[in-house]
Amino acid sequence: MSEQHVLSPPEQILSLPREDDCFNLIDGEWRRAADGRIVESRNPATGALIGAVPQSGAADVDEAVRAARAAFDGWRKTPAPKRAEILFRVGERLIQRKRELGELMAREMGKVLPESLGDVQEAIDMTFYAAAEGRRLFGYTTHAELPSKFSMCVRDPIGVVAAITPWNFPIAIPTWKLMPALVAGNTVVFKPSQDTPFCAVELVRLMHEAGLPAGVLNLVHGAGEETGAALAQHPGVDLVSFTGSHAVGRQIAIRGAEQMKRVSLELGGKNAIMVLADANLDLALEGIVWSAFGTSGQRCTAASRVIAQREIAEELTARLVVAARKLRLGDGLRPETHVGPVINAGQLRRIHDYVQIGKAEGATLLCGGEIATEGDLAKGHFYRPTVFGDARPQMRVCQEEIFGPVTVVIAVADLDEAIAVNNATPYGLSTSLYTQDVNAAYRAIRDVTTGLFYINAGTIGAEVHLPFGGTRGTGNGHREAGQAMLDIFTEWKTVNVDFSGKLQRAQME
Ligand code: NAD
Repeated sequence: MSEQHVLSPPEQILSLPREDDCFNLIDGEWRRAADGRIVESRNPATGALIGAVPQSGAADVDEAVRAARAAFDGWRKTPAPKRAEILFRVGERLIQRKRELGELMAREMGKVLPESLGDVQEAIDMTFYAAAEGRRLFGYTTHAELPSKFSMCVRDPIGVVAAITPWNFPIAIPTWKLMPALVAGNTVVFKPSQDTPFCAVELVRLMHEAGLPAGVLNLVHGAGEETGAALAQHPGVDLVSFTGSHAVGRQIAIRGAEQMKRVSLELGGKNAIMVLADANLDLALEGIVWSAFGTSGQRCTAASRVIAQREIAEELTARLVVAARKLRLGDGLRPETHVGPVINAGQLRRIHDYVQIGKAEGATLLCGGEIATEGDLAKGHFYRPTVFGDARPQMRVCQEEIFGPVTVVIAVADLDEAIAVNNATPYGLSTSLYTQDVNAAYRAIRDVTTGLFYINAGTIGAEVHLPFGGTRGTGNGHREAGQAMLDIFTEWKTVNVDFSGKLQRAQME
């Protein structure tokens, strides 16, 4: 084991309060659930208990929303550069604690340590990027159509934001919501996934310690159907920023519409890597293995389809199977591990059920297709990297998000068919194309209908200064990150100043 991977005992990783169920942050105080219920967090590689957090009920959610509401006026009136100063301090603390946060994440979520550290790095990048908006948040001035009149528009915060997040990027995704929301002057109630509560506790702790006023950021833990639903439907919440599954996102949007709430959704994907006959196959293979099996396939941008031109489909598939079989499963904290566990027993079953569906539909199972139980793997939730061949575009395994280490190979005649197959799923998040033909690349840029597109790279690897999100069932038109993130967390106010000293009537003939 390299020095870099020597593990610290849990008590050195977590500098948590001594009470073991006191991890909701409401109005600047660490609290238990009002009714004292707790929910456990366990390491998906070993089953070891990490700790317990409150199972918050409607009363806890209500207190958190009230605290956020009460803090809103003071926070929105705090100059944006001053709000940003706190976020810069958060960024510095994230840098200082990157290693321990990465180790905590590898324990709690299961991804391999280099990926966990990458998740924390993304959070650092987003924190600094959003903090820099404190000195921008640009509106604009323009000409008025009437004389002696001045026109401009400014960005106002929206109010109380509910941030509901999944477990697969347990520090990065929350920062994609919290940082732009806060720098823009909103207050927040954050409900992280029940599978990764301690990553959220540590993130919120260091944000709290960096000097956020009480009530500006609140944290409530608990199961989605209870805590998440109570938060999303709370009448005191103005905006729900949700990342998670399509089914839950749709439900939140429907209920939100009834309340005329703003709802921003980042949902699933059925992403594809298209490989043309002229591609550099070594490069394509590396991109496929990384995009399909990195994070055990549990990325919204994971390549769960390979669309290969028929001339090279057989060779590419054979090489992919060899590469997939070589991937070592194990604890994400061990340096020899390539692929960590999946998040929980329910997800393991779901992946295995999809493999049965694929077989029943007539796809050929080429490798994997089983739960791994040898040695220490029996203690966790491990699934063997799985490749299906002979897949047809309309099969369920080619249409539905599996969210595990499973990919399918679909053979096509040419680029046009590849793009048609790529575009014909209920999702529209990420696509990539491997080719050496510049014309083919530009045709694909024009015709691919996903929100993210890569040439000669895999389907994963977001950068915080670029818009992130998808089309069709992947979302409802918003983009996180980049300048687009400000459109989620602010609304425009158009301001007109008439200094003519008389009534001027616009649009009068
Ligand atoms: P999930 O939908 O089960 O849960 C997401 C969050 O919603 C969790 O905090 C959960 O507790 C909460 N929740 C569950 N039911 C709820 C309800 N009825 N009301 C309110 N909140 C509720 O998703 P997950 O399993 O945590 O994450 C995996 C999914 O997230 C995948 O579909 C993946 O594609 C998607 N995802 C999308 C992106 C993106 O940016 N597009 C990024 C990461 C993950």
